[in-house]
Amino acid sequence: MLDVDSNRQTMRLRIGGAWTAAADGAETEVVDPATGEPIGTVANADVADGLQAVAAAAEAQPGWAATAPRERGEVLRRAYELLVTERDAFADLIVRENGKPLAEARGELGQAAEFLRWFSEEAVRIDGQLSVSPGGDKRILVSHKPVGVSLCITPWNFPAAMITRKLAPALAAGCTTILKPAPETPFTAFAIVELLERAGIPDGVINVVPSDRPAAMVTEMLAHPAVRKLSFTGSTETGRALLAASAQHVINPSMELGGNAPFILFEDADLDAAVDAAVITKMRNNGQSCTAANRFYVAEQVAEEFTARLAQAVSTMPLGSGFEDGVQLGPLITTAARDKVGSLTQAAVDTGAAVRTGGSAADRPGYFFLPTVLGGLAVDDDILGQEIFGPVAPVVPFGDFDEVLPAINGVEHGLVAYVYTGDLARGLRVSESLETGMVGLNQALVAEPAAPFGGVKQSGLGREGGHHGIQEFLEPLYIATNW
Ligand code: ADP
Repeated sequence: MLDVDSNRQTMRLRIGGAWTAAADGAETEVVDPATGEPIGTVANADVADGLQAVAAAAEAQPGWAATAPRERGEVLRRAYELLVTERDAFADLIVRENGKPLAEARGELGQAAEFLRWFSEEAVRIDGQLSVSPGGDKRILVSHKPVGVSLCITPWNFPAAMITRKLAPALAAGCTTILKPAPETPFTAFAIVELLERAGIPDGVINVVPSDRPAAMVTEMLAHPAVRKLSFTGSTETGRALLAASAQHVINPSMELGGNAPFILFEDADLDAAVDAAVITKMRNNGQSCTAANRFYVAEQVAEEFTARLAQAVSTMPLGSGFEDGVQLGPLITTAARDKVGSLTQAAVDTGAAVRTGGSAADRPGYFFLPTVLGGLAVDDDILGQEIFGPVAPVVPFGDFDEVLPAINGVEHGLVAYVYTGDLARGLRVSESLETGMVGLNQALVAEPAAPFGGVKQSGLGREGGHHGIQEFLEPLYIATNW
């Protein structure tokens, strides 16, 4: 296990199997969001470092692509086993730099490990095709090749799982990689990469360039002819900019962007289960998840009871450092994140929303915001069109579902929706009417390594996980032949 306590003061970039400082010597501070205090520094990569990382990945690409699929799979399998064994040490690291409660950090690591296991199994299932053309004049021979050097850019909200969800399929497919982790959570990134190297990943196959000034570096990396793939998870705004930069060089993009998940509750649902699910979908990771329920549409027969019970449930959730026993809500990631949640909430209150619980930042050090439930919202309230990314639940009662459906679908995002009903046929009908990539139907947690995760509209392009995940890192080669 990477010794973060002794290393974190001097954490360097990882390029071609060597630890190196940024070319210009720049470093950034990493802060514990529960206290606002610095916990270490990390090298801050710029253009020259990014290009060096691309060169290292390009040099390693032919060798890794030629490694037998079984061997690539076995490395990932060993990494899975190491991560399961060392889960507690990794969990401490996540709590320290991300702030989430220890139990949630452990849960995230379970999922991070499962991506390694799933793609260790996918590495040996890359298939092809041999067929006769309809005209009978040729054989169609299709195989899949690794797309090539892949740039993977990840966010801070799931600092381990977002990395294995990209690196595992890339490595299984035979691609070498450059990882640009979020500047808020670089230590978890280094620990994951160090673990993969211990499992047998050769030098240069994964290179790591944390940076809090990524725009120029990433633009230059995308312009390098060796880079053939961009896999990004982050905000829709950054995703749009990266799609534009990728278009300049016709780079193959996979994009997991923002969400604005509706939680739709019908009057015939099991209310106990729905309240539990609402707490999970809203409050996991303090609402800082692209799959977080962002707006609650509730049948008017049960709207008041649901709102009261949700307010009661979240108001008793203990808030504090993720290391404290029993804590269920950690801090938000930065002051800016806390202030944004505060101003969205205030704007909703100014236009008539009623605060049923919470409603403001918590009066304590660190970036805490009180779990909040807002009632009395109208379908066109501004807050319903924004990704809140915090512990705020706006509730909108509805009478006729068909009347509220256009508003539910009338947003730019389409990642996930939650539907709670006692009538499965109704649930399936409603699921099909939603503009979304995923639905949790009487189910609060949808993320699953064996399933295709991803969104429609401005929530992204492509899918991660399932059989789709590895395809994002493969290109078909078609050979027309005859014999
Ligand atoms: P968030 O607001 O959740 O931090 P971002 O989209 O800003 O979401 O960040 C997600 C990841 O994208 C992080 O690793 C971040 O450093 C990186 N990033 C942000 N802006 C750019 C950019 N212009 N070019 C490349 N990467 C970027």
